[in-house]
Amino acid sequence: MRLRRDDPIELKSPAQLAIMRAAGLVTAAALRAVAAAVAPGISTAELDAIAEREIRAAGAVPSFKGYFGFPATICTSVNEQIVHGIPSREQVLRDGDVLSIDCGAIVDGWHGDSALTVRVGTTAEASANRPYSEAELAGLVHACELALWHGLALAVPGRRLTDISHAVEQAARAAGRYGIIREYTGHGIGTAMHMDPPVPNFGRPGRGPVLMPGMALAIEPMLVLGSPQTAVLADDWTVVTVDGSWAAHFEHTVAVTEDGPVVLTAEDGGAAGFAALRSGHTAAPPEQVGAIRMAVAEGAGDGI
Ligand code: MG
Ligand code: MG
Repeated sequence: MRLRRDDPIELKSPAQLAIMRAAGLVTAAALRAVAAAVAPGISTAELDAIAEREIRAAGAVPSFKGYFGFPATICTSVNEQIVHGIPSREQVLRDGDVLSIDCGAIVDGWHGDSALTVRVGTTAEASANRPYSEAELAGLVHACELALWHGLALAVPGRRLTDISHAVEQAARAAGRYGIIREYTGHGIGTAMHMDPPVPNFGRPGRGPVLMPGMALAIEPMLVLGSPQTAVLADDWTVVTVDGSWAAHFEHTVAVTEDGPVVLTAEDGGAAGFAALRSGHTAAPPEQVGAIRMAVAEGAGDGI
């Protein structure tokens, strides 16, 4: 892990953050359109076309397309794929799949980056297509989103960077026995998609740079139902679990401001997410957590 203190972290003016907000809203709208189109029978290439159309219609530019040669507008990672999956005509979604969608857009040179995980059908027939129960998959997706919001809530001036990392890890561990991916992290963001500092999803609190107004971070926990060991497929992009266990990935771009965290890639700026966190309504139903723990104890997952 690299948490260098000599690298300056880009500080944005309120006017620059306003442009990042515009990029965040384009990203959010594209993700919403893609998520709404997710259904059994659609290919991930078709989803990619929807995202590109949305972003370009808004006068923005897809961040991912051409990034180190990445060929598409979104990353689509299915089931045991964790992140960086390449959309394809051959990859047709099936009832019961879990799909992580990652998307980024640029407005006037400023970036937004966000990801979410959706279920492809939750019918009884879907169970036949997959190795996990409904409760296990619902719990995984819920835990990952919850861990993200716990991290976002600490993007406030005066906090240290790893306070966020610690909060993400603690929330994930409290939600169940999930594998927390360590080899891929969140990141600073602004005039480039990936900037300093890296934002790990684990670790002790109270380390790393002190957060200051004008910083922007992409926080992005990745959780799996088994071991967090990863491998990259022969396409040189797609990151998968070594044990084949299924994964979830959630991400938001957040600005550190005097008034607290502003979630640039959430349409309401994060109001609903933070309100849910405060009210405790985001806690996983106890029966789901119990089911997950039982499955782990029986060897369905290797834990961490
Ligand atoms: Mg992303
Ligand atoms: Mg990112």
